[in-house]
Amino acid sequence: MEHQQHPLITPVPGTERHLDSFHFGPEEAERHVYVQGALHADELPGMLVAWTLKQRLAELEREGLLACRVTVVPIANPIGLDQQLMDTPLGRYDFESLNNFNRHYAGVIEPVAAAVADRLGDDVALNREIIRAQIGTALAAIAPHTALESLRLTLQRLACQADFVLDLHCDFNAVEHLYTTPAAWPVFEPLARYYGSRASMLATDSGGQSFDECFTLVWEGLRERFGDRFPIDYGTQSVTLELRGQQDVDHALAGRDSQAIIDWMTHLGLITGAPRELPALAYPATDLAAMDFLHAPIGGLLVFHLAPGVEVEAGQVVAEIIDPITDRVEAVRATQAGMFYARSQRRMATAGMIVADIAGHHSHRSGYLLAP
Ligand SMILES: [Zn+2]
Repeated sequence: MEHQQHPLITPVPGTERHLDSFHFGPEEAERHVYVQGALHADELPGMLVAWTLKQRLAELEREGLLACRVTVVPIANPIGLDQQLMDTPLGRYDFESLNNFNRHYAGVIEPVAAAVADRLGDDVALNREIIRAQIGTALAAIAPHTALESLRLTLQRLACQADFVLDLHCDFNAVEHLYTTPAAWPVFEPLARYYGSRASMLATDSGGQSFDECFTLVWEGLRERFGDRFPIDYGTQSVTLELRGQQDVDHALAGRDSQAIIDWMTHLGLITGAPRELPALAYPATDLAAMDFLHAPIGGLLVFHLAPGVEVEAGQVVAEIIDPITDRVEAVRATQAGMFYARSQRRMATAGMIVADIAGHHSHRSGYLLAP
């Protein structure tokens, strides 16, 4: 194992920070997996899974069973991790800019396309190598100005050469689910099975330039531009694994989840050994455009009728909102049939806020598909 430290821009003197990355497996390995935890710094199940994985990977490395390079960043967001306000950790948005830590990653499609246009050929592996190198060059050429920008760029630079990027998040209160692209679904479907994903939602571009998509969108864009003339695959495929809810920081769960990642890596031949038999997929993949946010029609006391992890029918009452002054009671109903997989942990709803998430089957949304 190799431990590296990457300094971030210091916002004010005396507050130096850096990012720590841990590297496992043979340096010359052909394939590379990148795993990070807690980019949204108040989503800590991923940090425990990353730490558990660190121990497991060190063992596998000692036994000579790692057939790939693995980079683990257990604390992907030291800036957000240090944001506490009145006994409440607030790690989703940067206090200084109010930016979501998982949005606005640098887009490098233009410089990469310009640099590779005259160099691509008939060899898909060589094209992948040329493109990867140029993505590295393009990211190296960007000069960050703020601590947040330097955090984003450092993470991007660490992950951009990986074949597979696993970004470990969680929801407020939720069952196992994940987000990836339709193109990456075949490679991550076995992971969804091992993990027991109860909702797997697919979108090529959900509109936020999030960490997972900042890699895949470059390859997608190059395939669109050059794919009719040159063979180009996906040099990086990424998945956002949602490790249930914020309170689900638990050794038994983290043990299961890190085992699922190891089983998936073994299935792909990234770890030497016989892969565990693939369990059935817990729930079919659906389009992210078919996912519904259920909103609070009024402000008031939020009382759920259901917990996440159940299939609901269109019109089924998921929660009710009570105004204790006027006695008005409004139902929050599923707008279509699907898997109710996540809910808010607030119990005083503000008018219009997101109350629950349903993975539906009828695609009807477009443009920006994510929560704020
Ligand atoms: Zn998150």
